[in-house]
Amino acid sequence: MKKIILVTGATGAQGGSVARVLLDNKKFAVRILTRNVQSQQAQALAAAGAEIVEGDFDDVASLQRALQGVYGVFGVTNFWEHFEHEFRQGKNLIDAVKLAGVEHFIYSSLKDYNALSGGTLSVPHCDIKAALRNYAKELQVPATFTEVAFYYENFLTFFPLQKDEQGSLFFGFPQGDTKLSMFSAEDLGGVVASIFDHPNEYIGRTVGVVAEDLTCAEYAQIMSKVLEREVYFNYIPRDVYAGFGFPGAEELANMFEVQRLYIPNRQLDLIESYGLNPNMQRFESWLKKHKATFVGRISEQLATV
Ligand code: NAP
Repeated sequence: MKKIILVTGATGAQGGSVARVLLDNKKFAVRILTRNVQSQQAQALAAAGAEIVEGDFDDVASLQRALQGVYGVFGVTNFWEHFEHEFRQGKNLIDAVKLAGVEHFIYSSLKDYNALSGGTLSVPHCDIKAALRNYAKELQVPATFTEVAFYYENFLTFFPLQKDEQGSLFFGFPQGDTKLSMFSAEDLGGVVASIFDHPNEYIGRTVGVVAEDLTCAEYAQIMSKVLEREVYFNYIPRDVYAGFGFPGAEELANMFEVQRLYIPNRQLDLIESYGLNPNMQRFESWLKKHKATFVGRISEQLATV
């Protein structure tokens, strides 16, 4: 009988990558937790061999049921749907993991940006995940914590390219000239599967997941090369960006500002990530692979301005 790993968020970006790689590797049985067992993503995972269990981070009994007989858990909580309630949901998951006696919990955490800034800037989607890591440590859950970088996929969702008055494409935020670590969420599964394969080495550790560590101007140069038209990076100071007023503007402004001021590079995380998953994609390879989607996204975006 294979040991079972419960993957949360498996219908989404991070958990989806983890579930797919664990299914491909065939070393563990894969169970996924979802609120909607009928969704296309859940059904695709079922067809690939996953056991699908209905559950919700807000429903403690459903978590306890999903954790029966489980050896390991991949946990990811979603700030952008639940906002500050993410802490309660993560706590429910950690409590259930502890109660079930799970032997290896991997939680997708982030750095404590408030602490990095000496308490001056708060970034709840990061700070909450850091608080959840501390909570799991307090409970002495046998855990590994990942700190994933900014997804390349964000350029297709949260941060699409824009067009200036001269017709050139650009993206802009408060990152300045400081390197911005990135990776493709598609590649998390390879990292997490290697961590599950080496519990003795990784329980108690935090692993940064980084595939590229360049300045925004350098990412823009790669875009220009692959897309064959000029793309540039526009540095927007924190206060200007925070004033844009869209939901989450201040939070994202603070996130980039903390990174600009306090995270000069993540080279060591990058080296360890390629050790765990040698197939991590460089930005240029990822962009070439997704060029058609990228170009389509740019056209859609430009049609709306
Ligand atoms: P995603 O693609 O939006 O998918 C969200 C997943 O969360 C779905 O599988 C959903 O499952 C599950 N979920 C949401 N609410 C749930 C609930 N109440 N109970 C059980 N499952 C629930 O998310 P993602 O991008 O993989 O991960 C989101 C997290 O990544 C955020 O917290 C964000 O802060 C973090 N992050 C993002 C970046 C970035 O660059 N974008 C970088 C670092 C960290 P069902 O709908 O099937 O129930």
